[in-house]
Amino acid sequence: MPASTHTTSSSAATYSTKPCTKCGAKELQRKPRKLSQKLFALYPYVCLRCSNREIRFRIKAWGVVRLLILVALPVGAAIVYKASPGLFHKAADDSAQGGGADALARARATAGGLTAFEQMMITKPRKTMDNATVLKLWQHKVGADVILQLIRTSTPDYDVSASSIIELKDAGVDQSIILAMIDASYTAR
Ligand SMILES: [Zn+2]
Repeated sequence: MPASTHTTSSSAATYSTKPCTKCGAKELQRKPRKLSQKLFALYPYVCLRCSNREIRFRIKAWGVVRLLILVALPVGAAIVYKASPGLFHKAADDSAQGGGADALARARATAGGLTAFEQMMITKPRKTMDNATVLKLWQHKVGADVILQLIRTSTPDYDVSASSIIELKDAGVDQSIILAMIDASYTAR
């Protein structure tokens, strides 16, 4: 019996083009699919003649793509996570550090009563130089010119008390460097 004679069934009903595997009738009616069947491109049918239930696998191009995406997403995420577990935590750490630097800049700006220009400069990531840094650079024979340039371009955090200057002098630090450190300390205020 051809499928076209089923005029009594609803217009939404669809029939399989292939006959029933049990009785051979071309009366396999497609049933509504469950979500799992939709995901895996499975189509349930029921034979109107012998009530045989069949599930057919009918893959379409879009079905293949959807299946691949479903498999690839968790697998891809797992690979990325295993390859670099620090990746997900690092971003959080970076933002936390940035927040700390901002807070420090704000605290200095309010406490020190700096000019608008200095407040603007403080937001730039300048390196801070202190006595220990100068001493280290001097002991590694970096050269007075380089140290002077670093003093000019860095945020000063020098201890220019008498005892500290004596300490630098005893270490053999050039007088021009000590003078630049004192100068930087006072122009920053
Ligand atoms: Zn049948």
